[in-house]
Formats: sequence, structure tokens, C-alpha cells
Amino acid sequence: MNTPLMINAFDPARAEGLEPRLRQLLQRRERVLGPSYKLFYERPVEFVRSQGVWLYDSHGTPYLDVYNNVPAVGHCHPAVVEAVSRQMSVLNTHTRYLHDGVLDYAERLLATLPDALANAMFTCTGSEANDLALRIARTHTGGTGVIVTENAYHGITAAIAELSPSLGSGVPLGMHVRTVPAPDAYRAAGGGDQVGPSFAAAVQAAIAELQRHGIRPAALITDTIFSSDGVFADPAGFLVPAVDAVRRAGGLFIADEVQPGFARTGDAMWGFARHGVVPDLVTMGKPMGNGLPIAAVVARPELLDRFAAEARYFNTFGGNPVSCAAAMAVLDVIQREGLQANAQRVGLLLLQGLHKLAEKYAVIGDVRGAGLFIGAELVKDRASKEPNPELALRVVNRLRDRQVLISASSPCGNVLKIRPPLPFSAADAELLLETLDELLREDVFRAVLSF
Ligand code: PMP
Repeated sequence: MNTPLMINAFDPARAEGLEPRLRQLLQRRERVLGPSYKLFYERPVEFVRSQGVWLYDSHGTPYLDVYNNVPAVGHCHPAVVEAVSRQMSVLNTHTRYLHDGVLDYAERLLATLPDALANAMFTCTGSEANDLALRIARTHTGGTGVIVTENAYHGITAAIAELSPSLGSGVPLGMHVRTVPAPDAYRAAGGGDQVGPSFAAAVQAAIAELQRHGIRPAALITDTIFSSDGVFADPAGFLVPAVDAVRRAGGLFIADEVQPGFARTGDAMWGFARHGVVPDLVTMGKPMGNGLPIAAVVARPELLDRFAAEARYFNTFGGNPVSCAAAMAVLDVIQREGLQANAQRVGLLLLQGLHKLAEKYAVIGDVRGAGLFIGAELVKDRASKEPNPELALRVVNRLRDRQVLISASSPCGNVLKIRPPLPFSAADAELLLETLDELLREDVFRAVLSF
């Protein structure tokens, strides 16, 4: 995803004011990694260690992590470190031998999902999981058409980049891919009640459009919290009619849980549960191994029959003993430390605090989200709702200067993306809100002074 937040690996003009070590690291990156990678922030940051919700730079300065969902149970959680070290010192192989680690984990994972979703297949990344889910959906339905939201991101393989419009016009969508507007309650004509029906109508129109071109729909795939579209969680249940529509047309619903999954939304373990739907296929990744590369597709078993008959599946690293040990420790910690309840409780505090800030600052047009996945939409004017990506960029960069890490989402990057590790506490939330308040106050002063 290219957002305005990301900078080129080495930009001599920007690098001018940076300390020598950062300048040197940027130059080395450019030399050895090439030009494709992007970094966050005008002043990129180098981290050397982490713990809980804190990251430390090379001077030992702590940064509050309000961004990272991969270390979901906290950076360097001792239980994960211990489980990984123990397994690494005993056995780690490819996945063509019998080992009970993957079975214990699969059983434990499947127990968190609806009964109909009874098979798990392991991969290393979310991209691979989506790629595999797409192949399964196409094989099972015999269709090829896919419907995604307008600024969706589902991953980096060739097939999945073709259905990730947020990668930009340089990465063209596949011929069999159609986009629909995200279910945006803030801008929906007719208000929140209309979100479900209008999302379904858009999906229905996309299905008709595919069919007009002789393309049978294989799947509707959505991130169930619409992270890259701008974070849309409400009203709960809005996915139901769209999922019905794709099924009526012979397609499947793939829930991409890479972002909302594993208790982040607070009300449930999975984002789709908020909407009361049972997907045909669920993909997951990022937080699954707290940093170890493990991801998965979970499916209704009957969807796998034809795929298994026609295609052999092997993934060298996917679901290996060490990754499964990490993933098992993650589930243990989520349950033992009550992280789902924490996400709900602290998420609510954040929503309340942001609503209070919205009373003070008209630039906050909307606050929304579920659990510890929150979006605050910045606008130039509340009446027109014109997006304010410049302010969002300034806020993200100035927060970074004050050692608080967040990011931004939406097609133009005007939605502050607040998505910390799950052990984020009430005190951490207070620190974020105070820092944001200070910064917006300064921005208002600056705007007044510049008149
Ligand atoms: N789906 C969603 C919704 C994502 O946000 C991402 C990663 N940002 C992916 C899939 C791809 O996951 P990975 O980077 O592990 O391939």
C-alpha cells in the first residue's frame, strides 16, 4: 500500500536534517534493498528493542506503540518467547512429517470459530492465505469473478495484488475483479441504516456487471473491519445482505481477518462475528504468531474436496512446529490475560476520549471502530466532510516526534488509524489522547496565527 505517509528509502532532501546514523542507514537500505521499499514518517525511526506496548530507539527513548497489530499480545511477550525458544531447541522441520503441534493448534484455533468452519490450512503470510482461499473459491464454484472494496488491500502475490486496489493504478486490477464502495456510514446517504442495503446493492450491481461479461462470480472478499478503506465497523450486521447476494449468485464469502481477527474488535474473536455472518472461508495472519510468520485459511470442509482432488498443497514453512508453538502461545495469552475484554474496555475509553476531542476540534469529523481498531476521520469542514489528509499526515508525523506511533488509512490517508497491541492499558490510552489534544491545540493556534 502506498499511502502519503510512506517515504522513499532515501530522499537526500528529506535526509538533510536527520542525524548521521539514520542518514547512513537510509543510504545503506537504498544500496542493498533497492528502491521499492517505503518507510514510515518524515523522520524515519530505528528501533532496537521492545517490550509490551513500548518500542525503544537506539538512544533508549521509549515510543508508545499505538499502531502495531502483529505483536498482538505485546512485544516480546515472555510466553511466546519461551514457547518459540523451547520448540526451536527441540525440532523444527518442513510440514511433511507427522507432528502433533500443528494438530493441537488447529483444534484449538477451530474451536474459536463457528462449527461449520472445520478445516484449517496453514501458510506463512496473509497474502498466501488469500491466494489459497481464492484458488479454493474458484475451484469450488467454477467461477472466476471477485468483488472487493474500492480501497481494499489483500496482499502481494500476483493474483492478490490484482484484487488490491489500494496498491494504486500502477498495479492494474484483474479482468475478473470488480470494486464496490466501502460500507461508509459517515458518508452514507440516508445514514447508518442504509449502509447494509446500499453495500448489498453495490455488490449486486457488481455481480450483474460480471455476468454481463460472461464471468461467473467466485467470491466477495472483504476485510471485515475495512482497515484500508477507512475503518468501518457499524452498524453491526451490515455485511449480511451483501453476503446473501454473493451466495445467491453462486459465489462464496471470504472474510479476510488478517486485521480484525484474534480478539482485536473486543466484542468477539473474529470481525465477521460482529455482523452475524458465517463466512465460507476465513483468512488470517499478522497477529497469529505475534511476529512469527504463520497464517491460515479456515474453510467449510466440503469446499476443499475438488481442490484436494485437483491440486496438491504443500507449504514448506506454513504451520511448522516453531510457528505453531508461537501461535499456541498467542491463543493462551489472549485467553489467560483477558485481552479480548481489555480490547473492548480500553477501546471504549479511546472512543469516548476521541468523541470528547471531536467536541473541541471541528477537524475531527467522525470517530468509529470496534475494540482496539479505531479510526478518527479528519475533515476540512464538517458540513462538506471534505477529507483533510494534510492534517492527518501532520498529526501522524508530529505524534511520532512526541514518541507516539500511529498511522493513517482511507484512499487519501485522512483517517487516523489507532490499532495498538492488545495489552494497551487505560493509562496508555490517556497518554495518546493527551498528546493528540496538545498537538491539535497547537495546530489550531498555528492556523490562527497564520491568518
Ligand atoms: N489482508 C489484509 C486485510 C492486510 O491488511 C494484509 C497486510 N497488511 C494482508 C492481507 C497481507 O498480509 P501479509 O502482509 O502477511 O502478506
